[in-house]
Amino acid sequence: MPEPLWFYSGGTALPTSVPTCAAGAIAEDKTLIEPIRMPEFIVEGFGRQKVFSPVGRCIYCGLQGCKLGDEHIIPQGLGGNMILPESSCRNCEREVGAQLEGRILHKTTGPFAGLRLRLDFKSKRPKDRPKSLPFTITGKDGVPRVVEIPAARVPKYWFAYITETSPGIIVGKKADELARGRFYPMWDVNDVKALSDLGTQITIQGAGEGRDLARFLAKIAHAMAVARYGIDAFEPWLPNFILGKDHCAMHYYVAGHENKTCDQKGIHKVTLGTWEDDGMRIGARIRLFCKWGTPDYEVAVGRFKQRRNEEEL
Ligand SMILES: [Zn+2]
Repeated sequence: MPEPLWFYSGGTALPTSVPTCAAGAIAEDKTLIEPIRMPEFIVEGFGRQKVFSPVGRCIYCGLQGCKLGDEHIIPQGLGGNMILPESSCRNCEREVGAQLEGRILHKTTGPFAGLRLRLDFKSKRPKDRPKSLPFTITGKDGVPRVVEIPAARVPKYWFAYITETSPGIIVGKKADELARGRFYPMWDVNDVKALSDLGTQITIQGAGEGRDLARFLAKIAHAMAVARYGIDAFEPWLPNFILGKDHCAMHYYVAGHENKTCDQKGIHKVTLGTWEDDGMRIGARIRLFCKWGTPDYEVAVGRFKQRRNEEEL
C-alpha cells in the first residue's frame, strides 16, 4: 500500500491572545534506541566555515571523473557552515540542491519560510527576499482577512514531524510499513502575541509534502557521515531515498522524537554514532533550530564495512 502523502499546510489558527505551542505528544516512545558516543557538530551559523576533505565522487550516485560541486551539509539558507568539497555531480546537484532544497527553502511556502525571513539567513538572491508574507487574520469583528505582515513582524514559525518509533529499518519494520506520526507547526509564542493588535486569530502558512523534510534530513545525515567517516567506510542506505528513487515509507529511515529542551548553543546540532546493539549501524541525530525545543530527528544512515573502535566514532 503506498504511503499516504503527509502534507503540511496552513490551517492552524492561533489565538493571538494566549498562544501556546502546538507541539503535542503522541504515544510515549518505548522503542527508541540511543546512539552512543557521538561526536557533535554544532552549527553556530554565520560562523567560520568548516571545510572537510574533498570526496572526489558524487555522494548520491557515485559518479566520478566529472565536474563535482561542493555540498553544504546544511544549506547556507539555514545558516549552515559545513562544506563537503567535490561531492555532487551536476544531475544530483539539480535534484537535491535546486529541487529538493529549493522547496524546503522556499521563501514563502517552505517549512522554514518564517524563520528564514526573521533570522535573515543567507539567500542566493537577496533581492527576492519577501518584504512581507500573507497571513489569514481574523479581525476583532470576527471576519477573516488576508493581511500582508511586514517581514520584521512575521512570526517565527516552522514545521516539524514526530513518529512513534525509531526508523523502521532499525526497529525491524518492512520498508513500506506505515508508522504512526504527525506533522505539526511550531511557532514563537511572543511573536504571535505581538500581533494581537491586528486581530484575534492568525493562521500559520506553509504548503508542501512532508516527505521532502525527511529526504532533506537524510541528505544532512548522509553528507555528515561521509564527511566524518569517508565515503568508503560504510554501505550507505540513503542515496536513493534522498534522490526520491526509494519508495519506502518515509519513516523507514527518518524518525522524529519530541524534545522540549531548549539548547542555546548554536542553531543546529548534528551528532553521529552507532546503535548500541551491534555497533555497526550508523545513526545521526539532527536538531534543527535547537533553541526552540524542536524535535530530535533520528536518521538511519548505513552500515560500517568494518567494526570501529570507540575512538574512531
Ligand atoms: Zn550524482
